[in-house]
Amino acid sequence: MLSSLRSRLWLSYSIVILIALVGMIGPTISALSRSPLFYRQTVLQLRLAQSSLINMIKLGDLNDTDRIKTIVVNQSRIDGIRYAVINNNGNIIIDSGSGIFPPIPDFNPPVFSVDDDPFSFFIFKDMDRKSWLYVVRPLNETSYLIAASRQPVIEIREMLRDEILQPMFKGSAIALFIAFALSLFMSSWIGSPLRRLADGARQIESGTYPVLEKEGPREIQELAESFNQMSIRVQQTEDSQKDFLANVSHELKTPLTSIQGFAQSILDGAASTPQELMQAASVIYDEASRMHRLVIDLLTLSKLEEGTAGMLSGPVNISMIMDQLDEKMQPLIQAAELTIKKDISPDLVVMGDGDRLAQVFTNLLDNAIKFTPAGGTISLSLKSEQSHVLASVSDTGVGIPDMEASRIFERFYQVDKSRRGGASRGIGLGLAIARQIIISHNGEIWAVSQPGKGSTFFVRLPVYFDKTTVKIHRNNTL
Ligand code: ADP
Repeated sequence: MLSSLRSRLWLSYSIVILIALVGMIGPTISALSRSPLFYRQTVLQLRLAQSSLINMIKLGDLNDTDRIKTIVVNQSRIDGIRYAVINNNGNIIIDSGSGIFPPIPDFNPPVFSVDDDPFSFFIFKDMDRKSWLYVVRPLNETSYLIAASRQPVIEIREMLRDEILQPMFKGSAIALFIAFALSLFMSSWIGSPLRRLADGARQIESGTYPVLEKEGPREIQELAESFNQMSIRVQQTEDSQKDFLANVSHELKTPLTSIQGFAQSILDGAASTPQELMQAASVIYDEASRMHRLVIDLLTLSKLEEGTAGMLSGPVNISMIMDQLDEKMQPLIQAAELTIKKDISPDLVVMGDGDRLAQVFTNLLDNAIKFTPAGGTISLSLKSEQSHVLASVSDTGVGIPDMEASRIFERFYQVDKSRRGGASRGIGLGLAIARQIIISHNGEIWAVSQPGKGSTFFVRLPVYFDKTTVKIHRNNTL
């Protein structure tokens, strides 16, 4: 019954209203019941009656207790006020109400502070714990006259009921009604966007990715914003998983088809001469190697993405890596009839894994060689930039169309899959691996290209400052 937001809001408003009312009414009643304002008339009456009684008593002998008692009792019968005479010790000597009302206990402390304020009064409780208002004045040196009247409780109750409680109850009924209306409004203000969020989550479950309007309170709008981001990310992840599966299947299908075809030709005798057999075996070997490369690259990438690739961390002389880069690739460079230019600042050191960084630059140079026509130039550059080093590999090759320059770092992305055929054709994982390695080194990698004119790949890495370590590692790295 109280499971809905609306009923809970209403309940909480009602509890708050109730607490506020009790907190207000309780102290108000207790303050009012103690307020002298309510007893003004009674006190005034007591004071007048007390003065005239004292005047009457003072007409005769002030030590004649019997005389005083008679006057006091008679007067009490006439005006209905209870009179008592007490001595300095607070003991009751005369009580006009004795035998009629419960006795008055002795006064303790016995000495009264007699106030000048005509409206001031005191309260005592009789033996039945009933409260009496009283005023006191000295009669002679040894005794006091008390005039007392029952505390007018009923009047106050009536007044509270008619003047205070009734309007308060009316007010609280209105407040409860307003709380109900407010809870309706609040629950729809907060509840509707929440319901839309729940619907959206259900849609994600069923494979659609909604974008929600940002409505309601700020926190709910933030929630909707996070939901939208999550929805986009889930969609991207799902798309990339689908792409990934399609790409892997495609990359495996091509070599498998080749292997199957050539194996078949051996089996059914179509390839029978030693040359034909040799050719079939070499295609099978190349395609199997390509599949092996694919699996190794995929494993590397997934380890890098998970952070379990076991990267080393030490000062690495990046200048030496860049400088020696073309040595290993000389046969390829010569075969492609390319020229290499180098502009490398010496002794620049970064922190990280030397082999992995060498892998990145080898891949960039390999791509530059692959995508640059004969007669072209490849330039390797490395310079220092305050707290970073900036390395670049540029070529005068085919370039990358603007639209695709940002996508070449995605897994399996290739600008034109038909550019290179045969077993040496790329898989499209090299730049994805390179990007992951550079990210692990807190660096950045990006490409700038002009189709038909060439491309430049930049790598920026944080520089390592410790000069003493530089000298040691200069000799040890690579
Ligand atoms: P692969 O070289 O195995 O295809 P990469 O991830 O290394 O995979 O490169 C992805 C794609 O980026 C390449 O297929 C190519 O289309 C493009 N690319 C990379 N480097 C260059 C370059 N220097 N010039 C032109 N295109 C390039």
